[in-house]
Amino acid sequence: MNLREIYSTENKEPAISYEVFPPKDDVDGTKLENLFVELKKLLIFNPSLISVTYGAGGSNRNESVEIIKRIKNDLKVTPMPHFTCVSTSRANIKIYLNTLSALGVKNILALRGDMPENKEICHDFKYASELIEYIKQESNLSTAAAGYPEGHKECESIDKDIEYLKQKVDKGAEVIYTQLFFDNEHYFTFVEKCNKQGIHIPIIPGILPVTNYTTLSKMASLCKVEIPHKMLETLEKHKNDKEYIKKYGIEYAGIQCKKLIENGVKGLHFYTLNKSYAVSEILKNILYTRTN
Ligand code: FAD
Repeated sequence: MNLREIYSTENKEPAISYEVFPPKDDVDGTKLENLFVELKKLLIFNPSLISVTYGAGGSNRNESVEIIKRIKNDLKVTPMPHFTCVSTSRANIKIYLNTLSALGVKNILALRGDMPENKEICHDFKYASELIEYIKQESNLSTAAAGYPEGHKECESIDKDIEYLKQKVDKGAEVIYTQLFFDNEHYFTFVEKCNKQGIHIPIIPGILPVTNYTTLSKMASLCKVEIPHKMLETLEKHKNDKEYIKKYGIEYAGIQCKKLIENGVKGLHFYTLNKSYAVSEILKNILYTRTN
């Protein structure tokens, strides 16, 4: 299915999707096998899509392709490769697009990628909007873009960032997947501002279930997202109690998801960190609550 079909207005239920990454330092392939063991546990929730991240420099391109093939052929789920243009030439991008089309891939999440430190930047595409325009010219791929409810870390203001987001939509982005956030108000305000700027495509919230205090602190500062005061206080108080943190993170994300569904989101995109437990608990909880 392509993105338009997945997020069609006719679908009453929000579409569930998962994000995974190619495992690092996977010398004997064990981590890759584990990833598929985890993904298989999540199939019972009938995911509409599984997205696969891409190293900004293209370092894990082959691994991404392998995972995409297995998602499609073994799990029979629609894959969505991410792709970043920051260090890749136009010619190289064309080759990759051809590879994806030959595999029968229908969707792509088009990104600029983080600016690499001490590495060469390729100047063929400066922003994701230019990449999206190129993908639409050169392929039939249904294209998604990234959005940042609290603003992108390099941007001077959220309003300016949304202005640039509109350029991505005008160039052909059909869906926006958001950066993770822990305060739904950021998401609701963002959607409102996007609508005012004339952005009317689905804006799918990205949900990260917190299972580990250190990972959370690292990710929050890396992505420039706010950790609400009460959440931070609770996590700091219990930071040495791994089981407590996991339980709290699952409950917290579950409440976030329920409120998002009540407000009519078209989908939920889970940052799985290649693990099934937390997402599985959240989805069980949501489904139970919704049918009872
Ligand atoms: P852009 O949309 O190009 O924006 C980059 C910056 O430039 C922003 O500050 C924007 O405001 C500004 N800007 C845009 N257009 C203009 C313009 N015309 N003039 C001036 N300024 C402009 N990274 C990876 O390496 N691999 C991944 O797989 C990956 N997956 C992601 C998935 C999601 C859902 C999200 C939210 C992010 C992901 N990222 C990934 C991170 C992303 O690559 C970085 O946040 C990157 O710094 C920006 O990418 P972008 O596509 O949003 O860039």
